[in-house]
Amino acid sequence: MSLLAVSKTKPFELIRQAHRLGLSKFGENYAQELAEKARALADLDVSWHFIGPIQSNKTALIAECSDWVHSLDRLKIARRLSEQRPPDRDPLNILIQVKTSQEERKSGVAPEALPDLVTAISELPNLALRGLMTIPAPATDEATQKRPFQQLRELLATLPFKHLDTLSMGMSQDLEAAISEGATIVRVGTDIFGARYNSLPPR
Ligand SMILES: *Cc1c(COP(=O)(O)O)cnc(C)c1O
Repeated sequence: MSLLAVSKTKPFELIRQAHRLGLSKFGENYAQELAEKARALADLDVSWHFIGPIQSNKTALIAECSDWVHSLDRLKIARRLSEQRPPDRDPLNILIQVKTSQEERKSGVAPEALPDLVTAISELPNLALRGLMTIPAPATDEATQKRPFQQLRELLATLPFKHLDTLSMGMSQDLEAAISEGATIVRVGTDIFGARYNSLPPR
């Protein structure tokens, strides 16, 4: 199990500090912010994970600067990321974001549509599909928190691709529930860096 430190809105120096304390995977929601941090901190041996909604005009930046993308939910975006991945870099690691809650979210593929998307993405040359990600509706009791995580784990097991072994699930509020359901990456911001303030980062 690994810990992704979600550093969105947090300054470079705090990321350096976190790295000195042993963290080596950082998550960002805005392409521009990820690119700036990846460039400014290029001397650190860390990996950069894009976890936010993906706009098509940002795919080149994401393809250049990320090691992982957790929030892929459309084939059109997948094709652009594959085309725009620089040839001298390893294939971009990909997780497909799945809708696991009834709540109407903009992001995430419906479970019924997942098998076709998985098949199509596996054929793209510069992407390495690794597994699934979800952001469920917030819940306070652990039984309710666990349900979507269990669903994601079961969905992964039904896919006919046994090399897919990554489940990105759990944030500060529900990471215990996610870990007990088999998370392989938890994405934690607040519990590592403290609260974020409302002002948006530069973009
Ligand atoms: C911000 C964010 C997180 C971290 O949330 P915390 O509640 O601060 O731990 C995790 N995943 C995604 C996709 C996020 O946008």
